Amino acid sequence: MKNQPFRYLVILIVVCGCSTTARQDSPETQVTEKYTGPIIDMHIHAYDQEAGSTMFGVDYTNPLTGDKFKGVNGPEEQKIETLKILERNNIVKAMTSDGELWYDVDPDRIIISGRNVSADSLRERHNQSQLHAIGEIVSFYGGLKADDASLTPYFDLAEELNIPIGYHIFPGGPPGGIYYMGLKSVRAANSNPMQIEEVLVDHPKIKIYLAHGGWPYLEDMKALMYAHPQLYIELGGISWILPTNELHNYLKGLFDSGFGNRIMFGTDQMVWPSTIEKAIEGINAADFLSLEQKENIFYNNAASFLGLSNEEIKKHKSQ
Ligand SMILES: [Zn+2]
Repeated sequence: MKNQPFRYLVILIVVCGCSTTARQDSPETQVTEKYTGPIIDMHIHAYDQEAGSTMFGVDYTNPLTGDKFKGVNGPEEQKIETLKILERNNIVKAMTSDGELWYDVDPDRIIISGRNVSADSLRERHNQSQLHAIGEIVSFYGGLKADDASLTPYFDLAEELNIPIGYHIFPGGPPGGIYYMGLKSVRAANSNPMQIEEVLVDHPKIKIYLAHGGWPYLEDMKALMYAHPQLYIELGGISWILPTNELHNYLKGLFDSGFGNRIMFGTDQMVWPSTIEKAIEGINAADFLSLEQKENIFYNNAASFLGLSNEEIKKHKSQ
């Protein structure tokens, strides 16, 4: 595709009026269309002081890419800076773990995803209209796999209430940082997304998505998405932590296999708000994706997964 600059120039002229941008990052000219419409981020964290205590005030340099990200100093700054970046980038919805911490200041945008309490407590919150989703479930950090009996009540509840549930597997955390920063039960060997299959079979109506896209198990994800058409993924941390080429290789493998309508944008923003813009840049730089395919990742797939109303979609697209 890189050898067809003229073809891309024609496309650029034809779509004039859509937002387009030309990049020159190799001797050959690449033209890739930049998506600027509404975005849904399916993976954001709100922390209180305790939950964010080991990360607040820590700047992060990604050892895989050299990218540097400035850390926020506390919960208030995390909330303000994250909401600012969401607003600036037209991120109209944010699936937010522990989103109850931020909901009151931005109820149209924040989707409350609850976790770390019993399934009964989540049910109670849902009864009081204080819960929209469950997750992300991070039992991987504790050495548990998806078929562990202790997790069944959460999957049962999500299916019963017909609300989304996000299940985290690999990678989460920085490279090497999970085990070596103290989560001693973490094993890469436990990270294959195939572990979700019995959950899918046992819960045929469950609205479930995998965090971080199931990376790096491309072939297994193809098998899972082929066998289980209800399974969605969101890109989470891989959208900014992986070198862009690897993110693109992974995405391309899934798109080429026909699963482009079940891939949702996500960032796993923790205490480094600028990771969100890095992630948007990474998807926009994918020259194998059309503008329409980018729109599917950034918005349409999540809108469909979340069951947004036509009215709401129309409102987002006219903003
Ligand atoms: Zn996360």
